[in-house]
Amino acid sequence: MNPTHAVVLGGGLAGTLAAAALAGRTDRVTVVERDALPDGPRPRRGVPQAQHLHVLMSGGARAMDELLPGTTDRLRARGAHRLGVPEDVVTLSADGWQHRFPATEFMITCTRDLTDWTVREAALALPGVTVRAGEVDGLAGTAGRVTGVVVDGEVVPADLVVDCTGRASRLGHWLTALGAPEPAEEVVDSGLAYSTRVFAAPRGAETGFPVVNVFADYRSGQPGRSASLVPVEDGRWIISLTGTRGATPPVDEAGFAEYAASLRDPVIARLMGAAEPLTAPRASRSAANRRLHCGGEGWPEGLVALGDSVVAFNPVYGTGMSSAARSAVALSRALRGHGHAPGLAARAQRAIAEVVETPWTAATTQDVRYPDCRTTLVDRAALVPTAEAENISRWVGALALRHPVVNAAMTEVITVNSTFAALQRPEVVAAMTGAGARPALREVPLRDDEWRVVRGALPTG
Ligand SMILES: Cc1cc2nc3c(=O)[nH]c(=O)nc-3n(C[C@H](O)[C@H](O)[C@H](O)COP(=O)(O)OP(=O)(O)OC[C@H]3O[C@@H](n4cnc5c(N)ncnc54)[C@H](O)[C@@H]3O)c2cc1C
Repeated sequence: MNPTHAVVLGGGLAGTLAAAALAGRTDRVTVVERDALPDGPRPRRGVPQAQHLHVLMSGGARAMDELLPGTTDRLRARGAHRLGVPEDVVTLSADGWQHRFPATEFMITCTRDLTDWTVREAALALPGVTVRAGEVDGLAGTAGRVTGVVVDGEVVPADLVVDCTGRASRLGHWLTALGAPEPAEEVVDSGLAYSTRVFAAPRGAETGFPVVNVFADYRSGQPGRSASLVPVEDGRWIISLTGTRGATPPVDEAGFAEYAASLRDPVIARLMGAAEPLTAPRASRSAANRRLHCGGEGWPEGLVALGDSVVAFNPVYGTGMSSAARSAVALSRALRGHGHAPGLAARAQRAIAEVVETPWTAATTQDVRYPDCRTTLVDRAALVPTAEAENISRWVGALALRHPVVNAAMTEVITVNSTFAALQRPEVVAAMTGAGARPALREVPLRDDEWRVVRGALPTG
């Protein structure tokens, strides 16, 4: 039998994880990337979002460990924090403050540059994996079968091509150039913008400090204004402010602080006041939910797409990297079950569609409620709940903040470990009466010791 060759388009997080999924099940894997890939946790042009905060949910961390054993340990050895969810997360959701119940899940927090480098280093060291510097211009083959890829004008033959070129992927265009049907594209665009600043954490808060989230109330009819503070390696905090259309967060220093102070709770502004700024605020605007329906009728053999090229989410929900990692696991399992036999591509693509369904629904059903949210192809009516469904959603959302059993199920979903089916388990349904719930929290659930480390530098009053 001829040796098999896979080409991965894009050497970002999805691309390097896809390479790990392919290694060992394909004789040679070539990752094509247009940027020079740094040998360290350093920024590069192709991943501009890396300057904004990136949390890695436990569902994604487990997937990375399955593909590249020891990844989360290596991240932690390099300074990433492992925070218990919900214990080490202070969150004001649309429904109120969340109790800090003992952790049932976790998240990894560090800079995106550290995550990418740690994954890249391990993936590119696998036998048979190499990088080719270059720009992907298109696909080679026919409408029914992709047989290679065009890199800087030259055809590189492949048994399998995996598109991981991110949000700006030109997959639809490349497919129509082959005569294949263009995948349908859904967009739910709340006009979300980011403004992010990096701080040195106050002395004593360099480690062991929680994530702090103040989220918008998507049901309020007002533009969504939110902020998150995330501790990362080297004693730094990354603070990202976000706003949907009509509430773009400012990028000047005074405006940054004022915006944080004007949120539903000013806790992040107070914490920020105790920290030393290390960078100026920086903006980003590519944050719409966008999904391509790949793998259906007419999908060619020899082509798989995963990561942001297929589904990009509103990043506020923190699910993009985890969905990419779980999609790479889905590819690995499809290869294990099917090898490179005909039908692999459609089978893998269907498995990837299942992985992204819950995070997609979670993000779009909230975002569509923001003023002037723009959609294409989406059945808006299906995303907006009936009055009865709305009441149930409010009840479950509020109860999840106060009841440990409902919270644990919701946490599984939010951390990209389970589908919404987790909320239908018998013990969760039994808890829906509300018996055993704690009283609603009226104040920020930061502990005294956490306030103490920042109190000295806080404004009085
Ligand atoms: C502001 C912001 C904050 C976010 N926060 C979070 C978070 O907290 N948690 C989370 O899980 N996710 C978050 N995300 C989402 C996360 O960044 C993406 O899900 C993730 O980057 C997807 O990885 P990818 O490899 O698919 O795409 P990318 O990381 O964008 O990588 C694409 C790669 O393809 C290369 N490339 C593109 N075109 C070509 C070409 N033609 N030829 C050669 N190479 C090419 C690029 O150079 C790049 O290396 C956030 C996103 C944004 C925008």
